[in-house]
Amino acid sequence: MINTDSCSVNADGLMPVAAAMAKIRAGLQVIKAQETVDLPHALGRVLASDVYSAIHLPYERNAAMDGYAFASADAHPQQAFALHVVGTSWAGRPFKQALQAGQCVRIFTGAVVPDGADSVVMQERVTVTGDVIVFPNDCRLRENIRAAGEEVKQHSLLLAAPKVLTAADLALLAAAGIAQVAVKRQLKVGFFSTGDELVSLGQPLASGQIYDSNRYLLQGLLTEPCVNIHNLGVIADDAVLLEQQLKTAATQLDVIISTGGASVGAADYVAAVLQRCGEVSFWKVAIKPGKPLLFGHLDDCVFFGLPGNPVAVMITFDKFVKPALQQLCGYPSLKPLQIQAISTSVLKKTAGRQEYQRGILRQDEKGQFTVQSVGKQGSHLLSSLSHANCYIVLASDCAGVNSGDWVTVEPFAVLI
Ligand code: AMP
Ligand code: MG
Repeated sequence: MINTDSCSVNADGLMPVAAAMAKIRAGLQVIKAQETVDLPHALGRVLASDVYSAIHLPYERNAAMDGYAFASADAHPQQAFALHVVGTSWAGRPFKQALQAGQCVRIFTGAVVPDGADSVVMQERVTVTGDVIVFPNDCRLRENIRAAGEEVKQHSLLLAAPKVLTAADLALLAAAGIAQVAVKRQLKVGFFSTGDELVSLGQPLASGQIYDSNRYLLQGLLTEPCVNIHNLGVIADDAVLLEQQLKTAATQLDVIISTGGASVGAADYVAAVLQRCGEVSFWKVAIKPGKPLLFGHLDDCVFFGLPGNPVAVMITFDKFVKPALQQLCGYPSLKPLQIQAISTSVLKKTAGRQEYQRGILRQDEKGQFTVQSVGKQGSHLLSSLSHANCYIVLASDCAGVNSGDWVTVEPFAVLI
């Protein structure tokens, strides 16, 4: 008998999805170590400490458009007025002198506004005759100048940690002249498949064998900037071997994920092995597919024993493993985007377990969302997963859906 928290399980010995997630969250510590990386390697990583700007942004006062810069004191209210153009301020080549009374300069977007000037008027609004520029009677004063520090003041906060760095963040850091940032170190995540029937690609299949597809699924699901992936291969249905490999891997990794062998068949050893060499936090969740999910620890290493069927692997990964990895990496808490859509299919379901059926979400010309079932929902049907673009989330007490009913849908991989 595996020891799990009997208070949290329901009458079938299954842990409700929310309780399982809460147990996982409570069992995780955000990794402390950080490293410094160059900006091109920082995309998608988690910022480890706040970043302050050493300079004003903009660095200096500059023009917001191509035009003419002058002092508003030289302008006539409600009357056209003329000024002498005495030079040009280019982006990268400023006009160095201060403006005198009656003068203006030609100026281009981003160019430094010379001392003495406080207004820029768009070039399309003036009339040029030699070096005399005539401004119209209705030109607006003290506009079209970006103040120094208008966006970010020198020494003020540029980016607050923790934050998953986006392309815009990298551009902001670059604008402030920052070439490197401190990010959380990558999470070391290993995964392996279990099963005597599994054959690796490149070898022919004998009767009774199947190709190992789960490792390709996990490789794809784990490919994230914050994760350092370790593919640990296939382990046979052998408790001694499994224990050896688990113990060795646990000394080197932050997280281990296995697939298969987590159920209650005679060749399913994963739960018993974890019980022997680590600690089982829970086993079996009220979710479909994915019921045999196992969660625990081997010393400081977090362990997820996922089911063998590929659809169950993806669902348990999305619902439990992915949020756990994000928590370990220090991501701010994110949830899947949920949308209400009209089901265009009849969905069969028996009450008891929260179900994630696979569907195809569409939006019509009027903006209305509809979702169609991909058809058969067997947890071995990888092609159904491949055709789908969303989960249809059916609560544990739901006993089926008619065509035309509203349902909750989660598009794949959209977190907010
Ligand atoms: P198990 O939980 O080990 O009984 O596996 C459940 C089902 O998933 C069985 O039909 C297995 O053959 C299948 N399965 C297990 N591991 C994999 C894998 N790595 N790739 C594809 N199918 C698998
Ligand atoms: Mg198996």
